[in-house]
Order: sequence, then structure tokens, then C-alpha cells
Amino acid sequence: MFKSTGSKNSSSPSTKSHADNDTLLDGLLSSGFDKGSCLSRYQSYLYRKVSPHKPSPYLISKLRSYEDLHRRCGPHTRAYKKTMVKLNRFKSNVTTGCQYIIWTYANGLGNRMVSMTSAFLYAILTDRVLLVEFNDDMVGLFCEPFPNSTWILPKDFPFSDNNKRHHFETYQSMLKRNKENNSTQFLLPSVMHLNLQHTSDDHEKFFSCDHSQNLLHKVPLLILRSDQYFVPSLFMVPSFNQELSKMFPNKDTVFHHLGRYLFLPSNDVWGPIKRFYQAYIAKADEKIGIQIRVFNPNLTPYQTIMNQTLSCSQKHKILPDFATNISNESPSKNQILKSVLVTSLYPEYGENLRTMYLNKPTVTGEIVGVYQPSHEENQKFGDNLHNKKAWTDIYLLSLCDVLVTSSLSTFGYVAQSLAGIKPWVLYKLLDAKVPDSPCVQDVSMEPCFHIPPKHDCMEKSLDDIGTAFPYMRRCVDFGSGIKLINDLQ
Ligand code: GDP
Repeated sequence: MFKSTGSKNSSSPSTKSHADNDTLLDGLLSSGFDKGSCLSRYQSYLYRKVSPHKPSPYLISKLRSYEDLHRRCGPHTRAYKKTMVKLNRFKSNVTTGCQYIIWTYANGLGNRMVSMTSAFLYAILTDRVLLVEFNDDMVGLFCEPFPNSTWILPKDFPFSDNNKRHHFETYQSMLKRNKENNSTQFLLPSVMHLNLQHTSDDHEKFFSCDHSQNLLHKVPLLILRSDQYFVPSLFMVPSFNQELSKMFPNKDTVFHHLGRYLFLPSNDVWGPIKRFYQAYIAKADEKIGIQIRVFNPNLTPYQTIMNQTLSCSQKHKILPDFATNISNESPSKNQILKSVLVTSLYPEYGENLRTMYLNKPTVTGEIVGVYQPSHEENQKFGDNLHNKKAWTDIYLLSLCDVLVTSSLSTFGYVAQSLAGIKPWVLYKLLDAKVPDSPCVQDVSMEPCFHIPPKHDCMEKSLDDIGTAFPYMRRCVDFGSGIKLINDLQ
């Protein structure tokens, strides 16, 4: 219906005129769902270009096996109940064959989505079941990703943060206890807290090392708090490497596939996405997304960011220049229409860009329409509607053909990876001034991992990351961060 690549007459998503392959993203998505419960699962292919990045057969088989495990061990199953009863009695010899990782939230929606994706990949690699603790602000954003089960942590989960009866060890406190005990037998807890947040240095020495992963493997329940895309650190673990290479022959497609698999807009969010897209974007010859994230609005001059965005977009021919000689404007029947989707907390960016392109003709004669779906003014915590608007914005950006994004923003990372494109990244301002070059095209569509280890497990410096791991590079927007790239190119 709105797909840019042909098949204009396929009016209804329920007709069989498209191969299931298209609908289910080349086998990435499972067919075992009730259609009405998640319309985006069966309709999103109508709004996106077909991805040139195909999931490997091995990844597909791993996803189907994971779904089986989740069905067997997920909430409300006998195995789940039995495991929780045992763990609640502090028994670590759980014999149900079910181990768990519980994802808990930190920070904004983009941060949450990148860390959930990392937790999911970790769950697949370690045969754990991923359950997510959503508080009210995340309810109803996404469809259930796993068929015939739920990924939502049950309310009566015995080890949640507000249950003060339990005090759990972290990896570091577990090591310390064992050292102090000086016993020959290494004692592991049955439940452990993993803190992989940007505020924590604890991850530095252990998470990407085999010996720690071997220990973690024996802990039946891990409770993770993370706001990070820690997938690159999984690629550093030698014992995961072979599996990861089989799952992702192209290493820059991890979020692209797992994000499209996990995050489907709920019916509540899908309605506004579809309608906005149809009203303002679908008919355009080119769809441009511009994401403007301002981390310190009081210290960042609005006009400087506006100039930077325009200069980047015009320099790289994403948007046309303005014509200086207005009388040269010649009307044409085949005028090219560019739709620009602006996402920002602040209304000024969309309004100003729209006014500029309405008031001035372009050298190419192209017509530029500018649309901004929301302007929430502030990042709001604990607000469900606010998060639904954020998810709507992220998803709409991901339907664009070209993206201009802000440095350091996980919001933009999610959009670019779902879209499957390398964005043009606006450099961070230096002393409130635009650097010589306003932006640069990213080296891969993957999110950046902001807090990678500085040393490998043998204490060797990882300063030269590309030599240690040929499929990793420093991030263009954050020099201490790293990201996966496609090393086959
Ligand atoms: P990051 O802080 O840029 O890495 O992205 P996060 O998504 O983790 O946190 C930023 C949060 O601020 C978002 O989740 C939204 O709640 C809000 N926000 C920031 N930019 C936008 C925007 O362009 N649109 C909307 N609707 N919300 C935004």
C-alpha cells in the first residue's frame, strides 16, 4: 500500500498477495501469533522498504529455539513456578532446566531499547529466559515478542527491588566474599545483580571475559540493570564468538534484526504511526528524518543547532539549497517532493525549517514539506503517553530513507538500526560552536556502546580497538565508545 518498492495494489494486509516472506521479514518473525493482537506485525512491511540485510538461517533457528524455551519456562508455567519456589528458599541447585535474566529499566526509552536488545542476545547465548520489568510508563508500547507466552515479569516475582527481604550479591561482592572466606570451594549465589549502567565501572574487569561468564553461567537468576548497548562486549567473549559469527555473518546487523524482532508497536501506538505516515510522508519521493536531541538546552544556543542541521543537510545534498534568484523558479509537473520528519522535544526546530522551505524556493525546484509529530518540551519520567510519543517518533524516523541524527543519542541509534541505514551524525558542539564540519556519515548502522572495557581479560590495553577486534571501530560521535561494523565489505 505505501511500500516504495512496487506492489501498489495490495490493498489489504490480510490478502495473500504478498509472500509470507515479506510479511514476516524473511523468516525473522514467528507466524504463531493471533493477527488482531498485534497489527504492526502483519502490516509494517507495507510501510518499509524491503531490507537488503537478510537474517541468517542460523539466527532464525536460534530465535525459534529461544521461543520454545520461553514457552516452556516463561511466566505462569509449572517450570517457572517451581524455579521461583526453589530460589526463594535460596537453593541454587535448580533442576527445572530453566535459568532467567530479568531486565530492569534505567534512563530513557532509547537507552532501554538498546539494553533490552543486548539482554536478549545474552539470553540467547546463555540459554536463559528473558523477562522484562516494565513499570507503568512502559505498559502497552510493544507487542508481545514471543508466541504463546509473555515476556512481562509477573507481579508476584519474589525478588523485585521493592522486596527488601532479599539482599543480592553483585559479581564483585561475590568475588570478595569468596576471597575473604578463603575456602577451597567457590560458592555461588542463586540470584545475582548485574549492573551494566554508564554510571558503573564494575563491568570493566569481568563481563567480557570467559572465566566470569563461566561463573555467571552457574547462577540460575540474574537481575540486570543496564542502559547500555553492551552487545560489543558479548563479541569480546571468546566462547561466544563462534555462535555470534554464525548468527550474524554481517556483524553490523545485530540490532537491525533483533530490534525488528523484539519491538513491534502495540495497536495503540501503531494507529498514530500509520496515520501520520499516510498523511505526511507516504507520498514523498524522498523521506528524510532529522532527529534533534539537545542534552543541555540551557547551554546550547538554539540558532546554532538550527544552522548546523541545515548546513549538514545542504552540504550533503540531503536537502536542497535555497535559490537566490527567485524569478528563475520554473513550475514543473514532475516536481520532486521531499518530506522531512523532524523529531525533537522542542517545537522551534520543525517550525523554523518548515517556514524556511515555505518562504524560499529551492535551486532544484524540489518541494520540501516539514512535519514534526510532537514536541514534549521535557524528558518526562514515569509518563506512559510521553513514552508512546517517543516510540512513535522513533518508529517514524525508522521509516525514512535518509537520517540526520544527534551525537550520543540512543533514541537516534534505535531509529537508524531499525531503518537499516547509516545516518549523518551531527557533531557535538565545541564551546557552543559548530565544529568545522557539521556532520559525518556513520561507519555502521549499529548503536554505539558508550562504556566498553579499556583492557582485555589479559590486562592488555584495548586502545587500538580495530586491531584487537577487526569488526569494531571507535564511534564517530563518542571517541571512547565502540561499535560493530561490517568487516566483510
Ligand atoms: P537519549 O537520552 O537521547 O540517549 O535517548 P533516550 O530515549 O534514552 O532518552 C531521551 C528521552 O527524552 C526519550 O525517551 C523521550 O522520552 C524524550 N525525547 C528526547 N527526544 C525526543 C523526541 O525527539 N521526541 C520525543 N517524543 N521524545 C523525545
